[in-house]
Amino acid sequence: MITVKLPDGSQRDYAKGTTGLQIAESIGKKLAKDAVTIRVNGELLDLTMSLEENADIAIITRESAEGLELLRHDAAHVMAEAVKELYPETQVTIGPAIENGFYYDFYREESFTPEDLEKIEQRMCEIVDRDEVITREVWDRNEAVQHYKGQGEIFKAEIIAAIPAEQRITFYRQGKFLDLCRGPHLPSTGKLGKSFKLMKLAGAYWRGDSNNPMLQRIYGTAWANDKQLKAYLYQLEEAEKRDHRRLGREMGLFHMQEEAPGSIFWHPKGWQMYLTLQNYMRHRWREHGYREINTPILVDRQLWERSGHWDKFQEHIFSLKTEHEKHYALKPMNCPCHVEVFRQGMKSYRDLPLRLAEYGCCHRNEPSGALFGLMRVRVFAQDDAHIFCTPEQILQETKDFCTMLLDVYKDFGFEDVRIRFSDRPETRVGSDETWDRAEAALKEAADSSGIEYDLNPGEGAFYGPKLDFVLRDAIGREWQCGTLQLDFILPERLGATYIGEDGQKHFPVMLHRAIFGSLERFLGVLIEHYAGHFPLWLAPLQVVVAPITNDFDGYGTEVAQELRQAGLRVETDLRNEKIGYKIRELSLQKVPVILAVGQREMDNRTVAIRRLGSKEQKFVPLNQAISDLKNEALGPLHTML
Ligand code: ZN
Repeated sequence: MITVKLPDGSQRDYAKGTTGLQIAESIGKKLAKDAVTIRVNGELLDLTMSLEENADIAIITRESAEGLELLRHDAAHVMAEAVKELYPETQVTIGPAIENGFYYDFYREESFTPEDLEKIEQRMCEIVDRDEVITREVWDRNEAVQHYKGQGEIFKAEIIAAIPAEQRITFYRQGKFLDLCRGPHLPSTGKLGKSFKLMKLAGAYWRGDSNNPMLQRIYGTAWANDKQLKAYLYQLEEAEKRDHRRLGREMGLFHMQEEAPGSIFWHPKGWQMYLTLQNYMRHRWREHGYREINTPILVDRQLWERSGHWDKFQEHIFSLKTEHEKHYALKPMNCPCHVEVFRQGMKSYRDLPLRLAEYGCCHRNEPSGALFGLMRVRVFAQDDAHIFCTPEQILQETKDFCTMLLDVYKDFGFEDVRIRFSDRPETRVGSDETWDRAEAALKEAADSSGIEYDLNPGEGAFYGPKLDFVLRDAIGREWQCGTLQLDFILPERLGATYIGEDGQKHFPVMLHRAIFGSLERFLGVLIEHYAGHFPLWLAPLQVVVAPITNDFDGYGTEVAQELRQAGLRVETDLRNEKIGYKIRELSLQKVPVILAVGQREMDNRTVAIRRLGSKEQKFVPLNQAISDLKNEALGPLHTML
């Protein structure tokens, strides 16, 4: 007999050689149906593998994150099987699970077409219906290489040759298809289900090297059930409609061009939004005791060497030499400059916490393939701030930060926020006692903020643990924006000290923190979250006054002038066009409020208010319209930005 311990602590006895699937069946029918793999003493294994010893086990179901990853990996195998059946001349390479799905890289002279994808998907469904048993086989290395060479599969042979000698070579067989794989896998192809879809084709070099042959990559998405698949496809469709690059163009917010890759040309409306974000956060900074500073963009390389960034971050730093051979770096982050500001003049414990904030312009040399609209750029500014404090102040500062962050996100329409908590990595600096205290403080602060958190064990930086804040947008996508990172090391590296109550010199703790993260990216997220339908306080152009005919241009101009004086962002549309045409065009630009004026409005000093997305018109006296709109435009800070 063997004894297994389940995650809830309960224990069960089974005959030696019992499989995970049999254990699942003994617990319940539904569990057995949903089971896809089993965790045995921390390792994921095939459900069909027999257990020979006592163990801690957990049955993993298809709905769990690990289960879903396994399904996606199985989907890749099933796709490869389908491709080999349909196009036997194809060579297989690798096919991992990825976020939301999977891919497989194939080598084939002829290009796959969209029609081929349909055929492959159809064949995948047939393979699921066949419910082929999936079995694991351990092979001899040479036999494995010979097997693939014999089949003309040169890529697979190369993969095997590169596997370290001490590692076992395992294959998984389903039907006539055999693939090199570490596993684990489902017991049979039927378990995969049909909640998958092939999405697109792309090119990819073998091993990512452009000197190697070009492979054809087929991407697919796979889910635990049809409901999840549908939700994901809907999200994609919505995301495309909301694409910030398209809306940015239609609304005239910004553009990008090849001469400045990864940099944004902000147009008046886009820049207005950028300024609104900055002004908003300036108010919040002031409320929470931050002081705004500004530090140089071009800084001697030596500072980055001392801070350690040159060593760790070099390939992302743009640098240049002057005629006197001075070597400068365009700052990739503000941190060392803030320490330099801290270092000016003697600091005592009475000066702490000191909170320094900056919209510093940072440059990072991101690979061109990674650049993506506003979401991934090379030049950006963050709502960056550094808090210099004593170890005892970490808790209170973190609590304040969490409160501030939640308030900010709420103001921008984000209510669903989660934390990823990354704690101590294997290699780190600082004593265990310091780490204990720091992690405990972050945990307590997170708990008291009421935000749920997931643990990322060992994922903290070598210099301190961190919290990453993830928000969910209107169509359910997650964006990591905010961050709070403890740092025990940078002040010491750069020689920043304060005099403690004991009269001795101490190094302050540094908290790197941001709420928006990059303003560029946060604006991208906002554009997609609101699909361009911004609340009045955020909208770059708030009101357009549109006379019904040119006879009322005078009154329209007067109305606009009064709104402008009240602090609203307003324009007139005096083109010689029909009012219906003007409204359609202004709606495409997502102008939140259109005020139409004609004879009746001029005679009574009223306006006809039309809101974006509504066909209704409201006739309101001009004075009232101005005071109502002004109130609405104040936004969450109750002050005009
Ligand atoms: Zn920093």
